[in-house]
Amino acid sequence: MGVPEKAQTPLLIDRLEELAAVREKLSAEGRRVVLVPTMGALHEGHRQLMRTARGLGDTVVVTIFVNPLQFLPGEDFDKYPRQLEKDREVCAAEGVDIVVAPPRSEVYRDEPIVTVSAGSMGDLLDGKTRPGHFNGMLTVVLKLFHLVQPHTAVFGEKDGQQLALIRRMVSDLNIPVRIEGVPTVRDADGIATSSRNTYLSAEERDSALALSRALFAGRDAAPGGRDAVLRAGRKVLDEAATARPPVELEYFTLVDPGTFVEVAADTTGPALLMIAARLGKTRLIDNVPLTLGPS
Ligand code: AMP
Repeated sequence: MGVPEKAQTPLLIDRLEELAAVREKLSAEGRRVVLVPTMGALHEGHRQLMRTARGLGDTVVVTIFVNPLQFLPGEDFDKYPRQLEKDREVCAAEGVDIVVAPPRSEVYRDEPIVTVSAGSMGDLLDGKTRPGHFNGMLTVVLKLFHLVQPHTAVFGEKDGQQLALIRRMVSDLNIPVRIEGVPTVRDADGIATSSRNTYLSAEERDSALALSRALFAGRDAAPGGRDAVLRAGRKVLDEAATARPPVELEYFTLVDPGTFVEVAADTTGPALLMIAARLGKTRLIDNVPLTLGPS
C-alpha cells in the first residue's frame, strides 16, 4: 500500500491500523498533513475547506464520520445523509489525498468513559438546546487529531461556537495542531450551505432565507451598536415568523467572539451575530462577524 504522490482518486481508509501505517509513512517522509474533519454529504462549504487545506500543507486528509456522540436522543443521527461514493468524487475533484471514513465500531472500539468537556462555554447557545453536543464534538475532534496527527486542521466559521471551542481546547490542552478558520460559504441567495439544507422543502428553503437576511441587516446596522443591530435583524425575523412555513426562532444574539457571552449595549469592536431557528423539523444555524460602533 502506498501513498500516491498526487492522487486522482483519494486513498480510502476505514481501519485504524491502516491509518496508523499511512500516518507513519507520511511522518517519515516529513509531510505536513492538513486535516479537514467532516460528517460527509459534502457541499460547497466543505469544498472551500479542502481548497484552503491544499494551500496549508503537503497532504490533505478528509475524515467523513457521523459522530454519534454529538447527537442527542431524538436528533437526526439516523437520517443524517450518508453518501460515501458521491463524497469520494467531491474529494477527488478537490485533489484530496486521503479520505478516512471509519465505521462507528472503529472510532469507538469501546464506549468512551473519558471524554472532553466544553465547560461553561459549551452550555451556551447551541449547547443550551443541545446539552452535551459540544462535549461529543470536542471528544471526536481530539480523537481525530490523535489518529491523523495533522500539522493543521481546517474548520468553518459557519459553526462559530464549535470553532471557538476547538480553539480553546487546543489552547487549554496544549494540543500541537494549528487551527485554521474558513469564512462561511453561501449560496447566491445568501443561505449558508449545509448538509441539513437537503432536509428543506422548497417552501421551507424560501422561508429560511430570513436567517441570512436578518444577519446581513444586523451587520449593516453595526455602526449603531448592539441594540441597532438586534433591532434591524428582528424586523426581518418578525416578518419571517408569520411566513408560510414560519421561521421558529431559537436565538438571535450578539456575542463576544471569544467567550460567546452576550455583549453589553455599549460594546464596540468585533462581535458575532448568531442565529438558530427551526423550519419544520430542520434546525439551522448561521452567524456573521461584525464590528460594533462607528467605523
Ligand atoms: P459538518 O460536515 O457539517 O460537520 O462540517 C464539517 C466542517 O465544514 C465544519 O468545520 C463546518 O464548520 C464546515 N462547514 C459546514 N458548512 C460550511 C459553510 N457553509 N461554509 C464554511 N464551512 C462550512
